[in-house]
Amino acid sequence: MIIKEILEKDTLSHQDICDLLRIDNKPDFALLRNRAYEIMKEHCGEKVFLRGLVEFSNICKCDCNYCGIRKSNKNVDRYLLDKKEILAAARKSVENGYASFVMQSGDRDDPQFIDFVIDVVKAVKKATVSDKLPNGLGITLCIGEQTYENYKRLFDAGIHRYLLRIETSNEKLFEKLHSVEQSYHNRVNCLKMLKDLGFQVGTGVMIGFPEQTIEDLAKDVLFFKDMDIDMIGMGPYIVHKDTPMGKYFDEYQAKKQETFELGIKMIAVCRIVLKDVNIASTTALQAMYDDGREQGLLCGANVLMPQHSPFSVRKQYQLYEGKPYLDETDKSSIEDLEKRVHSIGRTLGYDEWGDSKHFKNRNK
Ligand code: SAM
Repeated sequence: MIIKEILEKDTLSHQDICDLLRIDNKPDFALLRNRAYEIMKEHCGEKVFLRGLVEFSNICKCDCNYCGIRKSNKNVDRYLLDKKEILAAARKSVENGYASFVMQSGDRDDPQFIDFVIDVVKAVKKATVSDKLPNGLGITLCIGEQTYENYKRLFDAGIHRYLLRIETSNEKLFEKLHSVEQSYHNRVNCLKMLKDLGFQVGTGVMIGFPEQTIEDLAKDVLFFKDMDIDMIGMGPYIVHKDTPMGKYFDEYQAKKQETFELGIKMIAVCRIVLKDVNIASTTALQAMYDDGREQGLLCGANVLMPQHSPFSVRKQYQLYEGKPYLDETDKSSIEDLEKRVHSIGRTLGYDEWGDSKHFKNRNK
């Protein structure tokens, strides 16, 4: 079907989404990008919201076949930042005008770890209350699959957003990508529990796995819609050599441009289908091309998550090859980010939580 006609429809079918993801020429891509931008402007505005990101531990109980910090990778020095270090990153986030904070780590669900996270979250909240932020920093957590009780304790501690990527909505592919202890059904169930508890729920997929098809990706978009998801964080899959999927390195290099383009087309399609959700333009896009995150913003993304982890641990949170070791907390990085965002005609939402409009709309 002609792309212009698909973009005029109110509801897109699986086939329509496949056609959009298969766009391979500049004029059609421009139509897709402009439509996504228009929808973003209408439903979310043009501001880009900021979250200071702290990757506070790389200790992980999982053995995902793609991930550089998987349990079996012995070339990683494991760390857990202490409360002081996480508080320092949170304060830096506030200082920079980034009113939201993302705490991400490897998967752990032991009581000692959950107690630690709760203690830190309460301290972060307390330390960041001000006239500008009467409820302190907005906090998003991303520490993997948990029990209902753990999620409830985390919610009660003051966390109001949670990110848990489904990685792929193709159950067979999910199984190939993960160890036998991990289950697709449990992942879906966790997303349901999070929603039940009242979190703003984020999920996403990796784009460009070997064996992943355009049909799979189109199904992923419809999965986000069916699950009524509030936030999307997705990005290209990038090979890490010290993983079972390291053997795909040459294949990945050869398909880099195609994978990147698919990554930004997925952002545009998600914006068109899901309309009022928050969509992050992720580090993986920037790892592939210097202006990767700006390209994501032009396709309808409205969230950036600048790095706020201490520089000393950056190299130990290497999920994939070429992950930038950026320290984005210093003055020149902040100015650079601002310049980049302004260069594409957008402004930054300083001192605002920037919650998902979708969450607000579905709770009206
Ligand atoms: N443990 C938490 C979880 O699983 O939700 C958070 C940490 S996990 C490392 C964060 C995300 O990194 C994963 O959901 C996955 O999508 C992404 N990731 C891991 N390895 C990657 C790779 N090789 N390329 C791109 N993204 C990757």
